Order: sequence, then C-alpha cells, then structure tokens
Amino acid sequence: MDISTLRFADANASFDDASFVIMGIPFDRTTSFRPGARYAPNAIRISSYNFETLLFEHGIDLVDIPIHDAGDFEEVGTVDDMVDGVLKAAKKIVEAGKFPLFMGGEHSVTIPAVRSFDDIGVITIDAHLDYRESYLGLKNSHACVTRRISEHVGLDNVVVFGVRSISSDEVGDRMPKYIDAFTIREIGVEEAFRKALSLIKKDKIFLSLDIDGIDPAYAPGTGTPEPFGLSPYDVKKCLNIVAPKLVGFDISEVSPPYDNGNTAALAARMMREVIAVVWKQRSLR
Ligand code: MN
Ligand code: MN
Repeated sequence: MDISTLRFADANASFDDASFVIMGIPFDRTTSFRPGARYAPNAIRISSYNFETLLFEHGIDLVDIPIHDAGDFEEVGTVDDMVDGVLKAAKKIVEAGKFPLFMGGEHSVTIPAVRSFDDIGVITIDAHLDYRESYLGLKNSHACVTRRISEHVGLDNVVVFGVRSISSDEVGDRMPKYIDAFTIREIGVEEAFRKALSLIKKDKIFLSLDIDGIDPAYAPGTGTPEPFGLSPYDVKKCLNIVAPKLVGFDISEVSPPYDNGNTAALAARMMREVIAVVWKQRSLR
C-alpha cells in the first residue's frame, strides 16, 4: 500500500461530510526511554484493515458512519512547534463541529488536542501521572502532559485513571486527582470509572488513552512499559461509560519498533470502539 495514500480503514468521507476526523501526529522527539511512537499512526492504520466493519455487539457498522482521515501532521521541529501546529489543525476540526481522534506520537500530542477545546474535563488513562513541571528541560514533554492540560482546563477538571507510577517530585498539595490501578482492580473498573467521571463537574469529556495505561502483557509496544495495568476489556468498559459525554479522543505512546503487532491492533480497535460508541449515543438522541 502506498504510504502517502494510506487511510484508516472505513474512513471514506470527505472532511466536510464527516462526523469523525482522524489525524495522525507522528512525533516522538521528547521520548525519554524507548523511541518509536513516530511510526504509530501508519502502523495503527495498517492494523485497522484487520477488522470487520461491523461491531456486532453495538449493532453498528462503520461503513455507515462518515469518517475522514486527515492524514498526518508532519512536524520536524521542536515539541513547541508541534504543539503550536497541531493546535491550529485541531481547532479547525473542533470548530467545524467534528469529533476528533488524534493518533500519536508520544503523549505530548494531548497538549494541543485538549487546548483545541474550551470548557471540558479530561480523563487520561495512563500508567503515569505525567505531572512534572518540566522534564529534561522541556515543558511540553510527554512527562508533563497532565500539568499542561490542567493549566488549560483547571486542575479540578482532570483525572488520571489507572496510574501506578508517580515520581516523588510529582507528590504535593496541588496534585491531579487520580484513581490508581490497584484500587481499580480492588473495586472493579466500572465503579472506579464512574467515580472518576463524578469527580469532574463538566458535561463534556476528552479522553486521552496513553497505551501504557493498559498492561504491557496486552500492549507491549510502548515507550515506558509499566506492570499492573488495565486490560483492554477494562478500557472498553470505560469507553462505553464515558460515551454520552465524550467530545474528543486521543491515543498515544504506541511504539511499533517494540511491538509484535498486537499493540497497534489494539490501538486500531480502540479507535473503532470510540467511533462506534459515540455514534451510537448520537443516534439515541
Ligand atoms: Mn502519558
Ligand atoms: Mn504513560
């Protein structure tokens, strides 16, 4: 397949006709441990052809849904250049009333994705708190995502779900709310996620899925694998619960050089799940 014409499976609509717009952001220049997330958008696109168009459990066929793949945002500059450029591109999608799905790239892609919205709450599914003020001299590092988005939406409107790695310099009086992976395992993912949603007093929620929130047994192809993670089914449950409030989604930190193919497939399937559950909610209204 010609990489320049590669599009996410079933993304056959024009931008104007689309309800959902997919954008790839092949950027991984602040990665601190294992690079490679820049290869994720196309790896996820290729994997997307693995699946049937019908999501039978939802009664939804993706061929009936107007989806547009806007291709990749190509940025070879600094992380700040990426943030500025993606913000402009993302605003065009959001202001046109489309539901955006961003495919990183590293987790810093969430910074412009969230900034393209006003008056929202954000839930990140992540092994890490990502709440450093700066990391390796960069404020827009993947390790600072939660802090940067908190500055835009307010600290009270962010919850990190599935965390199991917090650095001592992230601990303090002004920490983001989080529900750790151990608590989720103990009380069950549905109760835990409903609690996470109840912590945010906003009607609109952006969900950011750092793939390392899912256990490395299921998602080995990632930059910073962290044991004791969620299962793919846990995340499926979360997506179904948040769907009525969901206004945007991103997936990040898939690293194809460390993947056996299963992580990209999981990411593609999660993209398809988001589109299906949001479309189903809209058809119920
Ligand atoms: Mn992260
Ligand atoms: Mn992470």
